[in-house]
Amino acid sequence: MTLAVVGASLAGLRAVESARRTGYRGRIVLIGAEEHLPYDRPPLSKAFLSPDGPRAVEPFLSQDELRELDVELCLGSPAIGLDPIAREVRTADATIPYVAAVIATGATARTLPGTAGISGIHSLRTAEDALAVRSALESGARTVVVGAGFIGSEVASSARKRGLPVTIVESLDTPLVRAVGAEVGTVCADLHRAAGTDLRLGTDVTGFETADGAVTGVELSSGETVPADLVVTGIGAVPATGWLRGSGLLLHERDGGIVCDSTLAAAHGVYAAGDVAHVANALFDGELMRLEHWTNAAEQGAAAARHALDPANARVFSAVPYFWSDWYDRRIQFVGTPRADQVSTVPAEHGFTALYRRGDRLVGAFTIDRPRDIMKYRKRIAARAPWSEAVSFAHEMAA
Ligand code: FAD
Repeated sequence: MTLAVVGASLAGLRAVESARRTGYRGRIVLIGAEEHLPYDRPPLSKAFLSPDGPRAVEPFLSQDELRELDVELCLGSPAIGLDPIAREVRTADATIPYVAAVIATGATARTLPGTAGISGIHSLRTAEDALAVRSALESGARTVVVGAGFIGSEVASSARKRGLPVTIVESLDTPLVRAVGAEVGTVCADLHRAAGTDLRLGTDVTGFETADGAVTGVELSSGETVPADLVVTGIGAVPATGWLRGSGLLLHERDGGIVCDSTLAAAHGVYAAGDVAHVANALFDGELMRLEHWTNAAEQGAAAARHALDPANARVFSAVPYFWSDWYDRRIQFVGTPRADQVSTVPAEHGFTALYRRGDRLVGAFTIDRPRDIMKYRKRIAARAPWSEAVSFAHEMAA
């Protein structure tokens, strides 16, 4: 009896750990496309880029700790096919029969067309990407970030910390509208401006200037060219499901992510978790959500393994989404969903809070520098707290 876990990062590792925690003693095979032991991604755009940050990307667990979990590692060996009827995963070298499978292949960074051969242009998803970006920052690169999302904003923040000139180019008029809504997106935009980042909203990249194959400038729809030695594209990520074509799994029509039921099941014996999975969230009227959040990947990975090994007791997975981001020494946190009828800000002497209302319920909360509040809002959203109670609570916290 084999549990096959495809994707050796956060969700995949949590699946392995949870399988062992439930008392499963059978064979576990962890299949990963990257050569590395599973490692954590959030530090790649934060501490790892800081002048005083760690020099190496540390794995979550050492070889010895992984050995204690008794897991067979197939690293540097991407899965290339899944047959859910025969219950087999294929890599270039092996066919692995399984009784239960967890798919946790995450997402890959979207890239700008026509940039592949130009040096100095990077996305930021892997350890290799982070090393390349750090090395450019260390050499004092004039930095342009394409896309004012969270990862791009963290890169901008790291570059500013080193005193480097930074421009962010964003095609929308307000950044982060889909992630936090327009009102709060405007507050985030102000953080960039206050830190001296040149934020160009409503602007597209139209091309690149190069010399000897390396980027030297970014051409904008305004007609201007911004000088650049480093360009980081933070324009989103695409679920890594190309290898599932022909598997019969239902892939989302817009982004190709795996459409699961509310227990994370994608097919008999196959469960999905993390950035790759679309899951209907019962806490938010069954809204289909594919989240690119650390906590979601960890929680779903653990649940997917439990459900795969004991499908008769698979439960509906529903959790309140949560993410954080660090910009310019400020801690940004969000819980819930930004899809709301109303967003209200709560004045406070220190930090910032916005609450999101749908009907008469609290459905989301955004804070800056109020780390002790955020999980209290998460609990309230899970408990379907009435809006009026949440607003009074927020005023109490702010007082
Ligand atoms: P991934 O981490 O994407 O891992 C998927 C793994 O599967 C990869 O190793 C990939 O190589 C592998 N794979 C792909 N295809 C195959 C295949 N065919 N066969 C085998 N293996 C395959 N979230 C937050 O909440 N807060 C943050 O501050 C934050 N910061 C971030 C900063 C960066 C730079 C990045 C990239 C992400 C950040 N995130 C953050 C998001 C968070 O890291 C992700 O949500 C999380 O890594 C998702 O885990 P996952 O295991 O689902 O997918």
